[in-house]
Amino acid sequence: MLGYLLARAGVDVVVLEKHADFLRDFRGDTIHPSTLEVVYELGLLDEFLKRPHQEVREVGGQIGDEFIPLADLTHLPTHCKFMGFMPQWDFLNFFTEQGKKYPGFHLLMEAEVTELIMEGNNVAGVKAITPSGEIEVRALLTVGCDGRRSIVRELAGFQIQSLGAPIDVLWFRVSRQATDPGQVLGRFVPGKILVMLNRDEYWQCAFVIRKGAFEQIKQRGIERFRNDIVSVAPFLQGRAQEINDWEQIKLLTVLVDHLRKWYRAGLLCIGDAAHAMSPVGGVGINLAIQDAVATANLLAQPLSENFVSLSHLQRVQRRREFPTKATQWAQVQVQERILSAVLGSQQQVRPPWFVRQFKKFPVLRRIPARLIGIGVRPEHVRTPDVNSALTSESGGDSRVKAPTTT
Ligand SMILES: Cc1cc2nc3c(=O)[nH]c(=O)nc-3n(C[C@H](O)[C@H](O)[C@H](O)COP(=O)(O)OP(=O)(O)OC[C@H]3O[C@@H](n4cnc5c(N)ncnc54)[C@H](O)[C@@H]3O)c2cc1C
Repeated sequence: MLGYLLARAGVDVVVLEKHADFLRDFRGDTIHPSTLEVVYELGLLDEFLKRPHQEVREVGGQIGDEFIPLADLTHLPTHCKFMGFMPQWDFLNFFTEQGKKYPGFHLLMEAEVTELIMEGNNVAGVKAITPSGEIEVRALLTVGCDGRRSIVRELAGFQIQSLGAPIDVLWFRVSRQATDPGQVLGRFVPGKILVMLNRDEYWQCAFVIRKGAFEQIKQRGIERFRNDIVSVAPFLQGRAQEINDWEQIKLLTVLVDHLRKWYRAGLLCIGDAAHAMSPVGGVGINLAIQDAVATANLLAQPLSENFVSLSHLQRVQRRREFPTKATQWAQVQVQERILSAVLGSQQQVRPPWFVRQFKKFPVLRRIPARLIGIGVRPEHVRTPDVNSALTSESGGDSRVKAPTTT
């Protein structure tokens, strides 16, 4: 997203992706209303929504025997009053295609960053391994957006503050039938939590477990695991048999952390590389996108003037640090107070009194809708589109010199 936004603003960008495509394991599908608003501001919403996706306007939780409606997105002050569900690879492919409309956008697939190029104390680019050998990409600014296991943040020696997480998540799919109940944010029964995302033909399921408990679950055998699933979602009786190999189940080791400092001379980290998010609320993608928009807003101009100082980079951290910390604080509260409590409980799970109010007072459902759907300090696109500028201004080339790739 940052690569696209900067290229759109006339900056030359090289995006390095270590895989050959974006088509890999499930990594989250949620496209939040605030992200859709960014897509709208970019003038791409109609085209984007033509891609296969689902739209969810209201979500709730099955707590014991009781269904509680929790969030109503239909009142959000955004163009899309729903959460979109689209595989992350479709989303990334869409923006890759858009990026290719700009001469400054260069995407190198199968290019795995292995080293930072240092010039004194400044990061001057990266070395990467590609199928045709090692390459060097030299740049005025290197941005580490290589996810929660970021090698860039490790190589840069950034200090990581971990907030800990008492849970891990097991992801798997089970087929869906038209008669199944609607989508819920979560199903809570004593000792078990299951989140089920409706993907038309199948349910993308997230089974929340105590941290490190996966090995123990495996030792109990797959039959016991299937029984656990059916005890939370009885309508999956029969279909749980589709899970017949541990290979079908992916472990997400939940991490919640952030860098104390997101930058050093010539280098900035954003997205999960700057702050690995808990899956609570499914907001990791949204925060990463918001970081990208803020970074482009703050750095497109300095980049096009070929001068990015530490104070420019510091401004990005200042802008995004509060939304990150506030969101992580909320996630840690939910992890510790709700998820851990349910996982440790043997007794009938009952919704707390304040959660029951959501049933009585629909207006309350707008609060979680806003927190999840828009989040803290939403970003708006402030960068120009060099293509429309070129058509309206007789075609001068405002691009800065391309990063050199050797
Ligand atoms: C199983 C799972 C489910 C999730 N579910 C949700 C959800 O429902 N909603 C949600 O909002 N978030 C979800 N998340 C979190 C979400 O995926 C992340 O928060 C989000 O993708 C972060 O975006 P990012 O661009 O910072 O990093 P990533 O999306 O992790 O992207 C990093 C990219 O860098 C590439 N890369 C890594 N190392 C290198 C290297 N050395 N050289 C070159 N390229 C490299 C990777 O291949 C990857 O394409 C989930 C995560 C997981 C693992």
